[in-house]
Amino acid sequence: MPSVYIKTYGCQMNERDSEAVAAQLVARGWSLAPSEATADAILLNTCSVRDFAEQKAVGKMQNLAAETRRARPGVVLGFLGCMAQSRGRELIDRLPDVDLVLGTQKFHHTADYLADLLAGRRTKIVDVADESGSEAAIREHLLNGNAKKSVSAFVSIMQGCNQYCTFCIVPYTRGGERSRTIPDIVAECRQLAAGGVREITLLGQIVTSYGRRELPVRDGKSAFVQLLEAVHEIDGLERIRFTSPHPKGYGDDLIEAYGRLPKLCAWAHLPLQSGSDRILKLMHRGDTREHYAGLIAKLRRVRPGIGLTTDIIVGFPGETEDDFEQTLALCREVRFDNAYLFKYSERRDTPAALMPDQVPQTVREDRNQRLLTVINDIGREKYNDYLGRTVRILVEGPSKTNPARLTGRTSCNKIVLLEGAPRHLGQVLDVKVTRTGSFTLYADPAIVNL
Ligand code: SAM
Repeated sequence: MPSVYIKTYGCQMNERDSEAVAAQLVARGWSLAPSEATADAILLNTCSVRDFAEQKAVGKMQNLAAETRRARPGVVLGFLGCMAQSRGRELIDRLPDVDLVLGTQKFHHTADYLADLLAGRRTKIVDVADESGSEAAIREHLLNGNAKKSVSAFVSIMQGCNQYCTFCIVPYTRGGERSRTIPDIVAECRQLAAGGVREITLLGQIVTSYGRRELPVRDGKSAFVQLLEAVHEIDGLERIRFTSPHPKGYGDDLIEAYGRLPKLCAWAHLPLQSGSDRILKLMHRGDTREHYAGLIAKLRRVRPGIGLTTDIIVGFPGETEDDFEQTLALCREVRFDNAYLFKYSERRDTPAALMPDQVPQTVREDRNQRLLTVINDIGREKYNDYLGRTVRILVEGPSKTNPARLTGRTSCNKIVLLEGAPRHLGQVLDVKVTRTGSFTLYADPAIVNL
């Protein structure tokens, strides 16, 4: 039976899509190759959010074509996902060794297309068309063989985005918002819980927009809050998270849910993008710094100690030193636990790429460094505060960097490393923090309380 190697670039949605593709292939008798060196098919699941991510995937494919393909002419090479969607056939014109280009609504056809290519029935396949119902096609999981995934799983609840932020390529690569039904999502979550999964992260490009066209508000609760309640009912599930939301999606019903649903983790990833109202307007975010700060205050009132993380873009077209100072000031005021910082990257077909006053790369770099210093300093202080404290963690699996260690997370999304035993996997433990590192907490095995 053939084997496949899938390399994933980008966000959790992409990770989840890759997992569903892998599960689909395994169900059809494929094995998962430990590396590209022996795989019969090598698939790159791509990201288009920034130019750098696209360049990395293109560079990787050039290497595969030059080395792997020359050594093993029968190997199938494919691009999946966002860059495949936005560039389509152009990718094969540029890299003629590529056999398969599969868009974001087509992941569930991977096994059929690979079978055709391997059997020589077709030589090149490009499929980036829209497909109705594809939002419900990302549902198979690969729990066996990956301890971490068998404790914590991602569930894709919707596809697409209608926000059209002026910097963002996602509406063009993922299409408009399409949501799965609550019963369909709950059935998937229930199956995961029955298989031992303790934590589920609900995923969507703007997850808080879930079902807003399809499902009416009921008893003052949005479709997303109705879904949270339904998932909360599932026996065996300990924790629910979601990402990535939009600050606009945090209505009072969702804020109130943080106080009412104990399984809903004390963590919110709230993309800020900029602390300047002028820039937020140019970005078409539909948010203001006052609303954002008010939202943070409300969340902290309803869930004291809530973990708060964010995404920020520096060097958006027209961003002045004063605009940037406002971002720095808001970050100092909010005191995020962590932040993902992005230097603005021009994306083709997006309005911001054509805006005047593009910020020089050196200025983007400088602002990124200055903001990073602020975020790191605040993060260090916040993490140091945990020293000597007992925290409750869900033990997820072996640590990525040191498989002899276990990794767990607090409800507020702090990573905790400890030298526990395999029996701790999937358990909720109270552990004492003995050391803190860069955005990581360390707990002493001797004081694990079970
Ligand atoms: N749900 C998120 C939101 O509210 O905007 C979108 C998630 S997006 C896939 C991840 C992050 O990538 C964004 O929050 C943004 O900070 C960053 N990003 C998107 N487009 C970008 C661009 N053109 N240049 C730099 N960063 C970008």
